[in-house]
Amino acid sequence: MIYHRAEHLDDALNLIHQHPDFLLLCGSTDVAVQLSDQNTVQGLIDIGGLSELRAIEMGSESIHIGALATVTEIMESAAVRTHLPLLIAASEVFASHQIRNLATLGGNIANASPAADLTAVLLVLNATLTLGSKQGRREIALDELFCGYKCTKLDHEMILGITIPLQEHQWYYRKAGARERLNIAKVSLAVVKNSGGYCISGASLNPYALRLRHVEELLNSGDVSDEKISEALAQDIAPSGSFRSTKAYRTRVAFNMVKEAFSSLEAS
Ligand SMILES: Cc1cc2nc3c(=O)[nH]c(=O)nc-3n(C[C@H](O)[C@H](O)[C@H](O)COP(=O)(O)OP(=O)(O)OC[C@H]3O[C@@H](n4cnc5c(N)ncnc54)[C@H](O)[C@@H]3O)c2cc1C
Repeated sequence: MIYHRAEHLDDALNLIHQHPDFLLLCGSTDVAVQLSDQNTVQGLIDIGGLSELRAIEMGSESIHIGALATVTEIMESAAVRTHLPLLIAASEVFASHQIRNLATLGGNIANASPAADLTAVLLVLNATLTLGSKQGRREIALDELFCGYKCTKLDHEMILGITIPLQEHQWYYRKAGARERLNIAKVSLAVVKNSGGYCISGASLNPYALRLRHVEELLNSGDVSDEKISEALAQDIAPSGSFRSTKAYRTRVAFNMVKEAFSSLEAS
């Protein structure tokens, strides 16, 4: 297998252009698993050394997180702790110290896993991505990035950074799994309530993390009953049954979380 290590951003973009089939490698916490599962990777482009993409910057209206910021760096950021406590809450129950020290935010998004906890949180925070390629840069709403299981609309591009608008909001976060630590979500639910109403997304409820639009609509209507929550969830989620959990379990836990989120956010 061929391995290239990019020394700076232009170098990385040139390598991606020259080798469109090669896999990017950052913290490698997902790629290491992919490499042991499959034998189809032709080559690797290691972007882990691009320190220019690690910064977390506070602006007047948004926070910009470089794609290569690790979960630990996000947790240590004063700006994130002050303005995005929901992202901190999800980071605190993400994997273990060792994984958090390697795992990047860009990798969590680009991997497009159904169980991507931070991606689910960024969806309700209305994050946008800056993508880069040899042709230039473009912005895309995170909401528009995914096209299926482990499938993104990245077109020989890399994620350079994630921008999160600052807004007054209340939030709810819950993650259910088999263990307290090193826990891949059986279900996680991220909820934000702001002046525009409810935003809800979940991990491990669909082939990729996405907003639950019918549930949002229902909670915004205020006319919420158990039956209506079940109906809205039936339209929004299609959990798989896997060795981690059954479809019925994931559906029941999602129902309980939606009820809990609504009652706690309405009461606060
Ligand atoms: C034991 C264990 C526990 C875990 N626990 C959790 C958990 O609790 N919650 C959770 O959400 N995830 C968890 N994960 C998954 C993983 O740690 C995260 O998804 C992590 O954020 C991936 O980041 P990375 O830098 O390691 O990505 P990598 O493994 O380096 O890359 C992942 C994918 O993203 C692509 N990629 C990486 N960076 C970029 C970029 N900037 N632009 C474009 N493409 C890019 C790579 O080509 C690859 O396809 C766990 C993994 C392990 C092994």
